[in-house]
Amino acid sequence: MSNDLSAALTAAATALTAASDVTLLAHVNPDADALGSALALGLVLQRLGKDVRVSFGAPASVPETLRDLDVAGLLVPAGEVPAAPEVLVALDTGSVGRLGPLADRVRTAGTVVVLDHHVSNPGFGTVNVVDPAAEATALVVLRLLDELGVELDEPVARCIYAGLVTDTRSFRHASAATHEVAARLLAAGVDAEAVARPLMDSHPFEYLAMLAKVLARASLDRSAAGGMGFVHAVVTLEDAAGLRPEEVESVVDLVRTTAEAEVAAVLKELRPSYWSVSLRAVSRVDVREVAQLLGGGGHRLAAGFTAEGDAAGVVGRLRDALETVARG
Ligand code: 5GP
Ligand code: MN
Repeated sequence: MSNDLSAALTAAATALTAASDVTLLAHVNPDADALGSALALGLVLQRLGKDVRVSFGAPASVPETLRDLDVAGLLVPAGEVPAAPEVLVALDTGSVGRLGPLADRVRTAGTVVVLDHHVSNPGFGTVNVVDPAAEATALVVLRLLDELGVELDEPVARCIYAGLVTDTRSFRHASAATHEVAARLLAAGVDAEAVARPLMDSHPFEYLAMLAKVLARASLDRSAAGGMGFVHAVVTLEDAAGLRPEEVESVVDLVRTTAEAEVAAVLKELRPSYWSVSLRAVSRVDVREVAQLLGGGGHRLAAGFTAEGDAAGVVGRLRDALETVARG
C-alpha cells in the first residue's frame, strides 16, 4: 500500500471516529460489493455508538439477494437520507453521478469519505481512499476496519465476503494476498457456500425460459472489436417481466462464455428505450475505455454505461466505440 493510501486511510478513520452521525451510500443498482461494503462499515460504526443509515439512489427496493446482509436493519429508502448529512461515505462509487438521485448529497454533506477501487475515480470526497489495485471495495473497507482496530465478527465478515466473492468472480481474479483475506473471513465464521449460492447460482425456474429466449437471439460478430470478436444479447422489459434484477444481471455471465468473442455485451432495458449495458472482456480489450467513450465507466474487464434509443442504435454506437479502442 502506498504512503498516500495509508495517509488517506488514517484520515478516513479519524473522520469516522469523530462523527456522531454517518450516512453510507452505495451506487445505483447496488451490487454485493457496494452494499456489502456499506453494510460492513455501517455495522461497525453503529457498534461504535454512531447513528448510522445505509442507502442508495435507485431502484426503490433492495435486491432480494442482498437483504440478508442487513442484520441490523440499517437500510433506509433514499427519501430518508438527510438533506445535509454530517458525514457521507460513498462506497464502490466511481463518480458522483453513480449516486443517481442522491448525488447532490456530496455537495451538502459536512464531510465526504470516498472508499472505492475504480481507477477513474476523480476523488470527489473530502477524504479519498481509492485503491485501483484492490479487487473489491470490500477490501478497502476491511483495511479501514483494521485501521479502526475493530474486531471482525461473522456478520461483518459476511458482508465483506459477499463483495469479494462477486467482484473477483469467485476468487479467479484474486491475488495471493486476497486469498489470505478470504481465509481470514472464513476463520471469522463465514459460510462461503451459503453466501455465494444465493448471490451467484440460484434463480427461479422461469429464469430458464427467459434465458432460452434471450440467448437464442444472441448475435456474434467475429470481425468486430478489431477482429477479436464481439457477442451481444438483448434483454427487453418483456423478457424480464416477473423476474428479479438478479436474473437479468446474470445473463452476461453466460453470454461472456462465447469463445469466439473477446468482448461480450448485454443490453438490459430499464424502461422503454432506456438501456443499462454490461460489458465484459476476456483479457485484451479495456472495456472501461469503451464504456467511458459512451458516458459510462468501470474496470478493465467489466464495465458499463446507460443509453437511450432502440437496441440496434445502441449496439451500433457500441460497435464503433469498440473499434476505436480495439484498434488503438
Ligand atoms: P455491471 O455490468 O455488473 O452492471 O457493471 C460492471 C462494472 O461497470 C461496475 O462495477 C461498474 O464499475 C461499472 N458500471 C456499470 N454500469 C455503469 C454506468 O452506467 N456508469 C458507470 N460510470 N459505470 C458503470
Ligand atoms: Mn466493486
